[in-house]
Amino acid sequence: MSNSPLASITMISPNKNSPRTHAIDRITIHCFVGQVTAKRGLEVFQPTSKQASCNYVVGKDGDIGLCVEEKDRSWCSSNAANDHRAITIETACDTTHPYTVTAKAYAALVDLCEDICRRNGKTKLIWLGDKAKTLAYTPAPGEMVMTVHCWFANKACPGKYLLDRHPEIAAEVTRRLGSAPAPAPTPDPGTSHLYRVRKAWTDSKSQIGAFKVLDNAKALADKNPGFAVFDETGKQVYPEAAPATPYRVQVTISDLYIRSEPRMGSAAKGFIAPGIYTIIEERPGDGSASGWGKLKSGAGWIALDYARKL
Ligand SMILES: [Zn+2]
Repeated sequence: MSNSPLASITMISPNKNSPRTHAIDRITIHCFVGQVTAKRGLEVFQPTSKQASCNYVVGKDGDIGLCVEEKDRSWCSSNAANDHRAITIETACDTTHPYTVTAKAYAALVDLCEDICRRNGKTKLIWLGDKAKTLAYTPAPGEMVMTVHCWFANKACPGKYLLDRHPEIAAEVTRRLGSAPAPAPTPDPGTSHLYRVRKAWTDSKSQIGAFKVLDNAKALADKNPGFAVFDETGKQVYPEAAPATPYRVQVTISDLYIRSEPRMGSAAKGFIAPGIYTIIEERPGDGSASGWGKLKSGAGWIALDYARKL
């Protein structure tokens, strides 16, 4: 089970059950009740005394943080049965009714829901709008069902702003997943997914285009230095990222940053401890002549100039 490549910061909360006991077939969107960054949101769930967490935090600027890995159950919706099968998302919002969310946070939330559905093999996000109906519903294998916190506790969560947008979120995500009635009369078989042109997969805001036809995406990337083409799983397909074979490296220095993206200046996630690590992907990027290596742990990228290949 993977975590979202859209998350640019990770701070794992101790408030969780590991692993979850039910397959993922729900998404529960919450309102954080505060216009926080993803980082600040994650910090709030770090103390054991908080006795709460979520899988993801969406910050006011559209940044996304990983708080509890998808394989684990977060403590978020006042309902264990729900949280064992749901990916829970706390979204930055105003502190008062209707708990309005910024446009950037809303866009990131929809992107995140799409990504969660894709990686978990879902083709449809469903909002039934009714507690009894939803809890009685058994989703088909490709279906992800939305639930809300206020069904399980005497709370306003997710707040009027987000609650009103649940039908829109479900429809938009389902449309992107390609299972809504196709507007095109004869979609080519095998091209129902999109190739996205971005600087980095995790930098969704840098996206300048999305294409069904790979050649069109490549052409746009060629015209824009620094841009690459990614498939729906986040794999860079052009220019080809090499090598695909994992290998081990030794890090001996103690001040090598883990970066959220394969370049200097991207968000640092602390120093990597000296030791031996497995690299699963290489990319060229500013600040390391030998390129950047993606850590198998999913923690991020390190400059290969400062790691010795074993
Ligand atoms: Zn909530």
